[in-house]
Amino acid sequence: TSTPPKETIEDKEKLLDGLLVSGFDESSCISRSQSHLYHKSSPHKPSPYLISKIRKYEELHRRCGPNTIAYNEDMKIIANSNNATNVGTTTCKYVIWVPANGLGNQIISMVSTFLYAILTDRIMLVKFGKDKDGLFCEPFLNSSWLLPKDSPFWNVENVPTYQSMLEKEWSNSSNEDIPSSMFVDLRYSPNFEERFFHCDDSQYFLSEIPLLFFESGQYFVPSFFMTPIFNKELNKMFPEITPVFHHLGRYLFHPSNEAWGHITRFYQQHFEKANERIGLQIRVFDPNSTPHEIVMEQLLNCTLENKILPNVFSMKNSSLSSSDKKGTIKKVVLVASLYPQYGEALKTMYINKSTIKGEVIEIFQPSGEEQQKFNDNKHNMKAWVDMYLLSLTDVLVTTYQSTFGYVAKALGNTRPWILYHPITHNNNKEICDREFNLEPCYHYPPYHYCDVDGKVIENFAPSFPYVRHCKDYPYGIKLT
Ligand code: GDP
Repeated sequence: TSTPPKETIEDKEKLLDGLLVSGFDESSCISRSQSHLYHKSSPHKPSPYLISKIRKYEELHRRCGPNTIAYNEDMKIIANSNNATNVGTTTCKYVIWVPANGLGNQIISMVSTFLYAILTDRIMLVKFGKDKDGLFCEPFLNSSWLLPKDSPFWNVENVPTYQSMLEKEWSNSSNEDIPSSMFVDLRYSPNFEERFFHCDDSQYFLSEIPLLFFESGQYFVPSFFMTPIFNKELNKMFPEITPVFHHLGRYLFHPSNEAWGHITRFYQQHFEKANERIGLQIRVFDPNSTPHEIVMEQLLNCTLENKILPNVFSMKNSSLSSSDKKGTIKKVVLVASLYPQYGEALKTMYINKSTIKGEVIEIFQPSGEEQQKFNDNKHNMKAWVDMYLLSLTDVLVTTYQSTFGYVAKALGNTRPWILYHPITHNNNKEICDREFNLEPCYHYPPYHYCDVDGKVIENFAPSFPYVRHCKDYPYGIKLT
């Protein structure tokens, strides 16, 4: 046997073991060809079958994407018909992703929608407002995933909803009643318990409809693993189940050149010379119910007890400045939080202090927006940069239930420590713990079996071998 030439190995890494396709103009999206130089190399390899499905998807997207003949004709047909009596006359089928919640929620639901599109031979388009302009590169070669701004489907007010069809007992409806487009709300809907999206019957029904809209914010991938008709394909695509998001997320989300500029500048200035890069993601959902002092105390207890951060030696000033300590271990800590006080408190703790083993600890918090903002492009850019920088760390601490943290760990392939709810989790007996895998948690999974009785699912394990309850949000489920 001979060793492959160096370029081949480099190309393989650059294309993430075949997940990405070559042929893009590299200068229009520098991160696509450079991200492998910044991320740890991944032990999780995409299966040849997953790669072949993605190549097929790209081909379909090229044929059916915006401004193709197929797309233009199909959209006219769909816009002009109230029902799908002309089902079969559209050349392609579509699923349009509609945003809900913050950027982390949006990313996990786009990944879910993309997997759905692959499984059902639809193409996925995303409805991006100005708030997401210039955050990501186009993922599909020679095509676009953006729903054109002049699409008649930018406004979905009059599109029939899946929920109203469920109420009409659509399984008995005639073809006449099947609409040509349908809005599927997969958000958390506390008043709507009967969600049967994961059932084969629903999927047969939805497969008739040329255009679907998905509004979510959830990572609903585990529900596909609960849907019998998808099982065979999923097993072939993912012989290893837990890196689903890791593969599909790295396939879809490449920082734009502007985002990549912010990321690589931070990396070169702070991370490059570090012996260890530590990411702390501190998401305080409600400072009234979980005050900052309590969260800070929890963060310190977790990081010091688990030796993620070192204790300081004494409260007196050390005579050594960090630049004097040549040859010492340098740990650089990236703090991601809406609240700047976390970074400041940690800086105060380490500045001019010695640690027991003499490491140098540097703390940086690139942003501190104080509050979550919606429809704000600059704010989203900061969030995307923070999320991505967290994914470049060696040791990661994230916060329970935060999809922001889910994206960081899965892109970076880092099994993080999770900070639990500081007050309610296990009566505060356990403050943090290692996450068991890379998959995001599906916070609001289906509640019912699909058989006629529709009994409530109380324990997932016996019926659905691929899912179990999440540690950070026990009501939710995740792939395992
Ligand atoms: P989740 O609410 O924690 O599940 O995460 P999301 O990303 O869905 O929503 C939180 C939003 O708040 C983010 O998208 C940001 O807009 C903002 N945000 C929360 N934490 C941070 C942070 O650490 N850094 C930045 N830049 N923004 C944050």
